[in-house]
Amino acid sequence: MEESKPTLAQLKEQPHYSYSALNTYINTCQLLYYYRYIEKVEAERTPVALPFGSAFHSVLSEQAQAAKTGKLLTADEMTDAFATYFQVNCKDAANIVFKRDENIEDQIATAKRMFEVVNKEWLDYWNIQSVTEPFRIDMPGLSKSVIGELDMVISEQTPFDDENAKSSDTIVDFKTAARMWSDDRPAKDLQATVFSYAFEKTHGRRPSFRFDVVTKAKTPTVKHLHTSRDDDHYQRLEKLFLMADKGIQAGIFLPNEGSFACSDCPFADHCAGWHCKSAHTELRQVA
Ligand code: SF4
Repeated sequence: MEESKPTLAQLKEQPHYSYSALNTYINTCQLLYYYRYIEKVEAERTPVALPFGSAFHSVLSEQAQAAKTGKLLTADEMTDAFATYFQVNCKDAANIVFKRDENIEDQIATAKRMFEVVNKEWLDYWNIQSVTEPFRIDMPGLSKSVIGELDMVISEQTPFDDENAKSSDTIVDFKTAARMWSDDRPAKDLQATVFSYAFEKTHGRRPSFRFDVVTKAKTPTVKHLHTSRDDDHYQRLEKLFLMADKGIQAGIFLPNEGSFACSDCPFADHCAGWHCKSAHTELRQVA
């Protein structure tokens, strides 16, 4: 009997770095990382985009599971599922903040318009190999494993290809965005590097990567953006994560006051008083 693989929730029970935690430390703000992952401060505010994105993501995973068996949920079915996830997420989020004139109902109406366009542009059915595939990898010199979850893995081989033709794997990641990504953004994206690296370590094959980006707008649009990674990207990633790990172990958590995250930061009030506290607070936390 095949041994069942651990779920993401089980992987989280062991000491780990998640991809999103390290991305926060490297690309967003070290101090935000400290408040969220080390001190575990309750969010002073949670922008509604977070529960929205998480609920949207859950529904796209359900759509991928259905598509794997050749079916597709309708936009109405997806919207009903979204409404349930979204309301639970909003209830669980600390101090949720809506923008002026926004409410739960119009967020659900926005999601419905987004599902309609997602369905029109949906590409994958029988070629789906896995949905929500968790991973854990050890990287050279890192004090903890790195964990994450691949939204969907597809094979580029079609039923019409020669059965001896070499199949190629593509990792697909679902994204919601306020504005459509530029075509060159996937080439620089850290997630594509980490997830491609993890897939290759786990499966022994080099994958391609595709972001499926849908805009959260009055008239939503979808783009499928392709990219790939090579050995040089992987070598740079190993050093980047190693240095981030050393910074975290050493208690280095600097504010990044030019960060895009400052305007919606869940810890803005803590950050405003950061310099009034002794640096020993942070150093003690990681000791
Ligand atoms: S307000 Fe800006 S600098 Fe301060 S913790 Fe948040 S993201 Fe970092």
